[in-house]
Amino acid sequence: MNTIRIAVSACLLGERVRYDGKEKRHALIMQLADEFVLQAICPEVAIGLGTPRAPVQLVASSTGIRACGVSDPGLDISERIQAYAQMQCEALQACAGMILKSRSPSCGLGSTPLFDSQSRQTGLSDGLFAGQLRKCLPDLPMVEDSALNTNDAIAEFVARVRRRAQRC
Ligand code: SF4
Repeated sequence: MNTIRIAVSACLLGERVRYDGKEKRHALIMQLADEFVLQAICPEVAIGLGTPRAPVQLVASSTGIRACGVSDPGLDISERIQAYAQMQCEALQACAGMILKSRSPSCGLGSTPLFDSQSRQTGLSDGLFAGQLRKCLPDLPMVEDSALNTNDAIAEFVARVRRRAQRC
């Protein structure tokens, strides 16, 4: 019986939770269900946002990086996402790894476009959910979907997950 858990951004498992009502099923990641328990997690739906919903982007501000509406800068989900991530830090200790959707303002792991107040892209950042988890779970193997596009990359991640599971 599979007992080792990997948390996965829900859209990568084919759940229609994206802002546009679509999903981003990832065939190689789905195959991991043969060996592991894949636990779907979508922070934006978890904080009560609907599907579809207004898209948000990361914006650098004097109070730090915030997740604000693309067409409505007054929409700001930063506090809710960070509070949810903080809440999940303890629960996710039961997982031996995490796979996150690249470029997402919540889930991205270093790949999410960061904008200034004039909507000019200034760089890349962690999404707010992923960034918080990186801080509170520094030893948890975490990877983006975009880094799992070959069988070798999957095998390397699986080895990290198994090592983590043995230590716990
Ligand atoms: S990237 Fe993250 S927040 Fe966006 S739909 Fe997928 S799981 Fe939800």
